Amino acid sequence: MWQIIGQTRAVSLLQRSLEIGSLAHAYLFVGPAHVGKMTLALNLAQALNCETAEPPCGECASCQKITSAKHADVQIIGLSHDGDSAEARPRVEISIDQIRQVQHSVSLPPFEGRYKVFIIDGAELLSIEAANCLLKTLEEPVGKVVFILLTTNERLLPATVISRCQRVELLPVSVTEIESALSRSWGIEAQKAKLLARLSHGCLGWAVSIALDDGLLQQRAERLDELLDVTHGSCEERFAYAAQLAAQFSQNRELVQGRLDLWLEWWRDLLLVKVGLTEAVANINCLDDLIDITTGCSLYQIRSFIDSIRAARGQLKLNANPRLVLEVLMLSIPQVERRGEGVPAAQVR
Ligand SMILES: [Zn+2]
Repeated sequence: MWQIIGQTRAVSLLQRSLEIGSLAHAYLFVGPAHVGKMTLALNLAQALNCETAEPPCGECASCQKITSAKHADVQIIGLSHDGDSAEARPRVEISIDQIRQVQHSVSLPPFEGRYKVFIIDGAELLSIEAANCLLKTLEEPVGKVVFILLTTNERLLPATVISRCQRVELLPVSVTEIESALSRSWGIEAQKAKLLARLSHGCLGWAVSIALDDGLLQQRAERLDELLDVTHGSCEERFAYAAQLAAQFSQNRELVQGRLDLWLEWWRDLLLVKVGLTEAVANINCLDDLIDITTGCSLYQIRSFIDSIRAARGQLKLNANPRLVLEVLMLSIPQVERRGEGVPAAQVR
C-alpha cells in the first residue's frame, strides 16, 4: 500500500515504472512544502526494497526499517539530516562533503536490500560545488542505485541536474481528502479536521503537524488576534507594530515572512467574503469577524491592500529596509471601524 494521500497521478507513474521495470535512476519530486514529497520518496524506497509480492507492503522488516530510518541502504541527505552534531554553526546549504560521502556509498553494493536509495531533501539548497559533484554521479548511473531529489523550488536547481532526473510533480491535495484523512487516520474531531483542511492549502503534512500540536494552533490564533488588533488600531499602534516586526526581522526573517503569509491569507478570505464566495474561505472559524470587516471596506480597498502585502513580501526578499517596508504596509491598511465596541479580539476567533 502506498501511504501517500491524494497523489494518485504520481503514484500511478511510479507504480507503472516498477511494474514494467522502467525505473529512472534519478527522480525530481517537485511540490510545495509538506505536500508529501518525503512520504512518497520513502514509499518508493520501500517499493524498491520490499520483501513481499505486493510492494510496498509497509509491514515487512525492510519496509518497517525504512519507515523508522534504520535501513542501511536508504539514506536521507539534507540540512537536518547531516548527523554532524559537532558542527558549530547551522548549515545553510548541502555541502560538497555530504555529496562526496554519497559518491563513496554509491560505489559500494547494497548492504541489506536490493536497491540503494539516496533521498536529497531540499535539493534547491545544494551548494554549486555539491550540485556539480552530484551531476557527475547522475551522469554515470550505477545499477541498483536510485536518487530522489525533493524540492519546493526547482528554479533554484541547475538545469544540468534537472535534465538528468525524471520530474514528478506533487499537487496540493483536495480539501475533502485532507479532511477525511485527518479524521480517518489521525482521529481528529470533525470540526477541527474541517478547519485544518481549509487552512492547509492542500498540504496534508502541515495539517497533521498542527493537528498534533495544540500549541501551534494556539500560536496561530494569537497571531490572528494581533492582526485584528492592528487592523482596528490607531496609527501609533500600527507604527509600533511595524517597529516590533522590523526588529524581529533582523533575528528571524522567516517568522516575519510567515506573518505576512498569514496576513495575505486573511485578506484573501476577506476578498472571498466580499464577492460572496464564503464557502471558499480558509479561516472558517472566523467567519463572523470576516463578514464584520468586509462591511466596513470596499472591494477596491481589499484588493489594494492584498497588492500592498505582496509588494512588501517582495521588497523584504530583495533586502529593502524592513522598518520602512513595514511602516508603508501599515499605512496601507484600510481604515476599518470595529463594530460592537468592547468585543475582545480573542472572542472572535
Ligand atoms: Zn514490504
